[in-house]
Amino acid sequence: MDEYEFAYDLLVVGSANADLVTVVERRPDAGETVLGSDLVVHPGGKGANQAVAAARLGARTALLARVGDDGHGRLLLDSLGSAGVDPAGVLVGGAPTGVALITVDPSGDNSIVVSPGANARLTPGDVQEAGALFATSRVVSTQLEIPLDTVAEVVRSLAPGSRFVLNPSPPAPLPGEVLAACDPLIVNEHEARVVLGTDVTGEPEDWARALLALGPRSVVITLGGEGALVADGTGTCRVPAVKVDAVDTTGAGDAFTAALAWRLGAGESLADAAAFAARVGAAAVTKEGAQASFPTADEVAALCR
Ligand code: ADP
Repeated sequence: MDEYEFAYDLLVVGSANADLVTVVERRPDAGETVLGSDLVVHPGGKGANQAVAAARLGARTALLARVGDDGHGRLLLDSLGSAGVDPAGVLVGGAPTGVALITVDPSGDNSIVVSPGANARLTPGDVQEAGALFATSRVVSTQLEIPLDTVAEVVRSLAPGSRFVLNPSPPAPLPGEVLAACDPLIVNEHEARVVLGTDVTGEPEDWARALLALGPRSVVITLGGEGALVADGTGTCRVPAVKVDAVDTTGAGDAFTAALAWRLGAGESLADAAAFAARVGAAAVTKEGAQASFPTADEVAALCR
């Protein structure tokens, strides 16, 4: 397909959550109540995060997701709109907006309860009805905060010549049909372990080869402050991390995935796209928050001067 026929560089299919955060001195025991700090509400969810990250970099981005007809849904639509994400694929109603209830203790550790709400109601039928978005998107990216049968329908809906990118988070064993479409499958160590269904041993290169044997066309393993590793039929290659002072790593994986998907769609090699994505991930860890930390293309360029 001619490259100019695609209206979108990236279609993200995935979750949109309101993150409700309060800081507590300690967590309550069963039957107990404790007081927390003033509530802070952030737009989040891996799908919305990826879409915002890509649009902020300059990618023409659409999001297929479901939110509730409520204040949290409107907060998410506002944040998508300000980042420049096309919200035409964001369906409204059917259940309350997904929520992550997050308590942070004085040591900075999070405890999180997720109520998937509308995310769990993004159905294979919703994917079928969004055929026009799939027909006009160069790359399609998803995660696992929506039902797995919806992800399988995404794979069946890909336009000829488009590319599928999956970050299986939260991780689950994947059907062969989904694995075979991934180009790449993007995992951290924990996700690699769950997808492989065994403990990972040896070096990340070994995990990558074991993952490739499951059928994806390519694999990317993210290694936090150690960077990443890319692997395909031609071999494996390390991508060094960019040295920065890390402040908050929330959302780094989402920013990395969005950047990688966008650059792959622009025709870059897996190694070059991952090197760019590592710069975007590094920029994201230099600021607090998820969506609030995602850089523009100029900020990524400035980081590397
Ligand atoms: P996830 O959140 O999915 O586990 P990672 O923490 O591995 O993802 O982060 C994704 C990418 O962001 C990494 O591969 C790396 O390129 C970049 N990154 C993450 N943490 C740091 C850090 N402390 N310093 C520099 N880059 C980082």
